[in-house]
This record gives sequence, C-alpha cells and structure tokens, in this order.
Amino acid sequence: MVENHRQLTLKVSEIFYSVQGEASRVGLPTVFVRLTGCPLRCTWCDTAYAFTGGETQTIGQVLYEVAKHPTHHVCVSGGEPLAQKNCLPLLTALCDDGCDVSLETSGALDISAVDPRVSRIMDLKAPDSGEVGRNRLANLAHLTHRDELKIVIASRGDYEWAKEQLREHALTDKCPVLFSPVAGQLEPRQLAEWILTDGLPVRFQVQLHKILWGNMKGK
Ligand code: SF4
Repeated sequence: MVENHRQLTLKVSEIFYSVQGEASRVGLPTVFVRLTGCPLRCTWCDTAYAFTGGETQTIGQVLYEVAKHPTHHVCVSGGEPLAQKNCLPLLTALCDDGCDVSLETSGALDISAVDPRVSRIMDLKAPDSGEVGRNRLANLAHLTHRDELKIVIASRGDYEWAKEQLREHALTDKCPVLFSPVAGQLEPRQLAEWILTDGLPVRFQVQLHKILWGNMKGK
C-alpha cells in the first residue's frame, strides 16, 4: 500500500471480534470492521444503527485496531461499505497486512475495483427486501470462485424469484450461492425443505451469530 493511504479516513460504526456467522468462513474467529452508511433501506435490515453516526478513523487506525485481535480473518461490512470511496484502499491495506479479507456488500454498487485478493460476499436483493430494483446486474460478470452470492429470502415469492435468477444468470457457474431465511419471517426449516425438494445446488445457511447471541450489536 502507498504509505500515505494510511492517512485516508473512513466513518467507522464499530470494530469488533466475534465468530463469523455466514458464508464459507462460518465459525472462524473474525474481526469485523463495520463502516457507516448505506444508500439502501431493505425492509428486514438488521444493522440500521449503522446508517448514521460512527467515528472518523484513518486507515492506519483501523489497521491498528484490527491487529489487536488474535486472528487474520477480517470482514469489512456495513451498512454498505463500498458507499465510502476509501473502503477500496482499506481493503487493499488489510490484504497488504496479511489478512484474509472478506467484504459484505449489497450488490447495488460497483464491485469491479475491489482488490482481487478480497473475497466478495455479494447480496442479490429479492423482491420482499423492497430493493430489488437496486441490484447492479453488471456485478454478476465480475464474480469468481473466490466470491459468494447471497440471496436473503422472506417468502415463497422470494424463493421462486431466486430460483429464476439461478436459471437466468447461471449463478452457480459463477460462484457458490447461499440462500438464507429472513429471521422471524421465514422458518429456516421451510426454506431448507424447499431447497431439498427442488434439489437446488445452493448452500442453505442460517446466521450463526444470531443463534449464539441473538441480535446483539457488536456480536
Ligand atoms: S444493504 Fe445491508 S445495510 Fe443496507 S439496508 Fe440493506 S441489509 Fe441494511
């Protein structure tokens, strides 16, 4: 990283150490860097507290905080982290520091400039999110097997929509695809049974951190 990139600033909602609750790194001790702000308003959003507020920190300060924890797994999340332009040099700086970096992103913003060492966990917003119109379909062409695509499903209608996206865009040829139920809106078992009945080549997941800690901030 160019040394003066360490002076660039970001609005940071929180930095915390927990167990990764989703995707292929599930269960791994991980440091989370949650950036402030998001241009979307998903109906089922569970991190609305990150829309505003937070503390201005330099990239150097973030690296220092991250390095205090005994793991090299780092997840940059939000909000929508890519809404801050200095997210890109932050990701590169974390990679340069030897971290295994994942990025959780809404899929509404351009992912093409993300450092290729980063694993992008990208959402495809289903209709019940209220944000289906924000999906930036051009992002799909940039996904590789380092990345993962997550569809959060609130209803049978969302499920049918997700199945259609799998077919239309050959999503499982691009990267692993995750189907996740909206907590409190769709029974996890129901979604698992639909996937089994249809034999879909997707990974069913529930959010491990919510099983362990409920919807507690900083966990
Ligand atoms: S993109 Fe993520 S942070 Fe933004 S509203 Fe949707 S769920 Fe919440």
